Amino acid sequence: MKIEFVDLYSQYLSIKKDIDGAINKTLSNASFIGGEEVNNFEKNFCELNSVRNCISVANGTDSLFIIMKMLGIGEGDEVITSAYSWISSAETIVQTGATPVFVDIDEYFTIDANKLEAKITKNTKAVLVVHIHGQVCDMEQIQKICNEKNIKIIEDCAQSHFSEFNKTYVGKIGIAGSFSFYPGKNLGAYGDAGCIITNDDDLAEKCRMYARHGGLKKHEHVMCGINSRMDTIQAGILNVKLKHILNWTEKRKNVASWYNSLLANTKGIKLPKVRNNTSHSYHLYVILADDRDLLQEYLSSNSISTALHYPKALPNLPAFEFLKIDKNDFQLATSNEGKLLSLPIYPELTYESVEFICTKIKEFYQKKSF
Ligand SMILES: *Cc1c(COP(=O)(O)O)cnc(C)c1O
Repeated sequence: MKIEFVDLYSQYLSIKKDIDGAINKTLSNASFIGGEEVNNFEKNFCELNSVRNCISVANGTDSLFIIMKMLGIGEGDEVITSAYSWISSAETIVQTGATPVFVDIDEYFTIDANKLEAKITKNTKAVLVVHIHGQVCDMEQIQKICNEKNIKIIEDCAQSHFSEFNKTYVGKIGIAGSFSFYPGKNLGAYGDAGCIITNDDDLAEKCRMYARHGGLKKHEHVMCGINSRMDTIQAGILNVKLKHILNWTEKRKNVASWYNSLLANTKGIKLPKVRNNTSHSYHLYVILADDRDLLQEYLSSNSISTALHYPKALPNLPAFEFLKIDKNDFQLATSNEGKLLSLPIYPELTYESVEFICTKIKEFYQKKSF
């Protein structure tokens, strides 16, 4: 048995007719920017998320940058964010001219709300939370802190499409939510794509304008903006996939529950816990493993692909050396570096495959103890 880390091809085969139809429609129309597909995507995504505004953009990195820029964040400002994430969440803070202020993570891999308040200064303009792996941050406490101090919350939902906090989808708890539709994400295009959602109509209009060269009508540029658009072809593909996304999310949760029961009480590993009053959308199923590199090698020799998300905490990357921050502040994020291992998880993964993976993991730790 050979098990890939992600399998986008079998998902394509399961919806091939509709996908091919959507792509062919765009080709026949020979209209590749904007149009009905893009408008429909924005409408559909609003409806599914029960949110007033959706602005489609070129990718999930742009969406973060645009939100912060249109909130007026820039030089001299500080934005607090998690020490453990994909680089986009911190890199975009730097792009605005502001300074990222990292906070260590909790046992759920998300920003530690108990350590957040200590990092707030008079320059703090926003907290950028990342619902990493599909796990929802401690929004109750974060909201409480930020409301008191009048600090905006921005949600990076690139890994958490349709994760739930108190039975509502993430992305509209704060002022705005940022989504990525990178192919491997829970909702993935066949290239780059992203979007912003918000219930703030004023912010929505600014973001839309900024992403469209600073104007809502052609040749009427009221400010200098950027070019960040979702391609028509990608919007067509996403419209097809949106019909399946809630079902696929349920299937991911099933896969996670199989791992949870088959790997329960395995010595040598720690399984991901789910925070109370939230639902995890399992973009990734990340365990903490003793002898991680040897385990990964063992699984690979049994044709099981795994991955590392992410091998280095953000403050430990050369990219953020210029901040000259005290690295002792990120004990958990740093100590996880050598233990994190992402196991295969996708809607199409079968019980037999998960069983095989779990058998091999247990075998590894049994062999080791001899
Ligand atoms: C993927 C990702 C992004 C960026 O999305 P792109 O579409 O690749 O630009 C941002 N934040 C997190 C946490 C991500 O995983």
